[in-house]
Amino acid sequence: MSGQRRGFPLPLERVGSAARTPRGELLRPQRPLQEAARSAQPGPAPSGVGLDSGPVRAHLVARLRAEGFSDERVLNALLAVPRHLFLDSALAAQAYEDTSLPIGHGQTISKPSVVARMLELLLQGDAARRSGRLGRVLEIGTGSGYQCALLAQLSPSVVSVERLRPLFDRAREQLAGLRADRVRLVHGDGMAGHAPLAPYQSIVAAAVGDELPTAWLDQLDVGGRLVAPVRQADRQMLAIVDRGADGYKRVHHEEVRFVPLKSGLV
Ligand code: SAH
Repeated sequence: MSGQRRGFPLPLERVGSAARTPRGELLRPQRPLQEAARSAQPGPAPSGVGLDSGPVRAHLVARLRAEGFSDERVLNALLAVPRHLFLDSALAAQAYEDTSLPIGHGQTISKPSVVARMLELLLQGDAARRSGRLGRVLEIGTGSGYQCALLAQLSPSVVSVERLRPLFDRAREQLAGLRADRVRLVHGDGMAGHAPLAPYQSIVAAAVGDELPTAWLDQLDVGGRLVAPVRQADRQMLAIVDRGADGYKRVHHEEVRFVPLKSGLV
C-alpha cells in the first residue's frame, strides 16, 4: 500500500452532474462490526485501483450527487482523496462503495455519504460561509485518517485526535504525505478537545457520547460550527452547534449511527 501513497493535497478533478433525488435515509457511518466484517470479504481490486482509482472515485461521487449532495468543494475533495489507501488492501474492492468498513480495533472508517454530509454542514457555518472554506478544524476520532485527509482539502489547518495508539500510528504513516503545516495528529483523549491550538472555527466528531463535552464548546471560536453525533434516548442524532457573539445555538438534524466516544488512552 505504501507504494501507492500520494502527496496531499491532491489535485482536484470534476465529474459531470446527474439528476438529483431527495435523500433522507438513515445515515449509518458505523455499521455493526459483524455486518461490516461479513461484507468485507477479500475480493479483487476494482479496475484502476493501484495505478489510477479516479474512475471508481468519480462513480462514487456521481452517486452522491444523484442523492442530492451538491457542494462542489466537498465533491471535489471526495474525488481527490483515494479512500482505498486508508483501508487494508484486502478491502480495496469495496473502498468506493458508500459503506463503512472495519479498520481494526473494533472501529470502522466512516461511510462516504455521512462524511460528505458532515463536511457540507461544516461549510455552512458562519465563519466558513464568510471565508468560503473551513478555518482551523478540530477532528475527534482520526480512525483511518480518511476524513482527516478530506478536511485537509478544505482547510489550511486540521488538528485530529485519536485515543487508540495503533490507529493513530497507522493514520500518521498514511497521512505522512500531507503537508506538515496543514495536519497535526494528536494521540490523546479527544473528549478534552485540544486546547493548545484552540479556538477552532470547525469541530467535527466521528464518535458519539451522551452529551457534547464542554471542552468542545469552549474551544469553538465565535462564528464557528460544531457537528457531532449525540445520544438522545435510544437514538443518535447529528447535533449542530453554532457559536455566536451572544452564545450558542444548537439544533439536531438527522438520525445517525456512530461508534462510541470513549475516555482514556489506549
Ligand atoms: N473519521 C474516521 C472514523 C473513525 S471511527 C475515519 O474516517 O476513519 C471513530 C474513531 O473515534 C475511532 O478510531 C475511535 O478510536 C475514536 N475515538 C473514540 N473516542 C475517542 C476519544 N475520546 N478521543 C479520540 N478518539 C476517539
